[in-house]
Amino acid sequence: METLVGKTTEELIAAVSALGAPAFRGRQLAQALYKRQARTWDALPELPRDLCARLAEHYDLACCRVRSLQAAPDGTVKYLLDLPDGEVVESVFLPYPGRTSVCISSQVGCPMACSFCATGTEGLARNLSAGEIADQVLQMQALHPDQRITHVVLMGMGEPLLNYDAVLKAVRILNAEAGIAMRHITVSTVGVVPNILKLADEDLQLTLAVSLHAPTDELRSQLVPLNEKYSVARLLDACRAYTDKTKRRITFEYVLMSGVNDGEKEAHALGRLLQNVPLVSVNTIPYNTTNVASRYQRPTPQVARRFREIVASYDVTITQRQERGHRIAAACGQLKRSALKTGSSMRPLPMASPVAAAATPVHAAELR
Ligand code: SAH
Repeated sequence: METLVGKTTEELIAAVSALGAPAFRGRQLAQALYKRQARTWDALPELPRDLCARLAEHYDLACCRVRSLQAAPDGTVKYLLDLPDGEVVESVFLPYPGRTSVCISSQVGCPMACSFCATGTEGLARNLSAGEIADQVLQMQALHPDQRITHVVLMGMGEPLLNYDAVLKAVRILNAEAGIAMRHITVSTVGVVPNILKLADEDLQLTLAVSLHAPTDELRSQLVPLNEKYSVARLLDACRAYTDKTKRRITFEYVLMSGVNDGEKEAHALGRLLQNVPLVSVNTIPYNTTNVASRYQRPTPQVARRFREIVASYDVTITQRQERGHRIAAACGQLKRSALKTGSSMRPLPMASPVAAAATPVHAAELR
């Protein structure tokens, strides 16, 4: 069944109008879904019962339900969310002082097969709909009513720019309907060049992150198979076109893997590559050990620091990502694997039904 979450106010007005209700009922529905995170028909007291009953014949309200979660002492909560067809995605709630961020998925699995990524080992099951993308945020907001979500990053499972239309619709809904500032929405791509160029033309103030991971084609192709199609040079050209057009800064993500891409040679090459590119910065991420058999390891803090110092000596802005949720399966794709494949260390939500899950605020402290 179709869901109402994922429809714009105009589309909600059209949905209620088709059932003979006036336009303002559609606006009420939009307010309830996106501002109050109503997730059950009972949570819509402002709508006539018969309208709810008729809508319920055609639509579900929301699409994500919490299957399980893991909470870390730092407040990070990693959710495994069930979708209506039985597929499962990961979403992460990340409270920081002064802001609250969520990391959401854009696809079930991922077709990009980056060699170090747990999600990449699964392949792609399917794209998420705009409603499924936006609803991850709404579901987490409903579970944490006292912490207003201010930032959204599309750095969960999947390649957002291979699910372009649904991602853009979800981004627009999160901005226009749920009130999340466009510049606080980050889309992270492995480098789908034509869609970076297309995104540049959308004239959106969103933030683009590009997963670079290596300064040369030879090395990058070993880590990111898509590099065979779009070389580092083509990717950088697209990034230049993007920053020219949007005047928005691009962040290059660089997962540091010991002995692979974290040496002084790579640091100098990265510095030279980016030194004259305007409006870019680099964000290093120490490789997160995954539960997939892997040849990769994270570097020591000293090696990571040396790498940053060398890159910075080329006048390139470089920072290290603050790591969260250390004690939970923090790396991309890991929670799903541990829950579905190997028996789980996760605690099920204390709930009688999915409806109760939506209504019960989760306090990380209770779950430790
Ligand atoms: N497909 C998009 C977004 C999803 S991955 C992209 O590639 O950007 C989000 C980020 O997590 C990417 O930079 C990805 O390379 C990184 N990542 C994946 N597995 C990781 C791991 N084991 N440790 C650290 N970062 C990882």
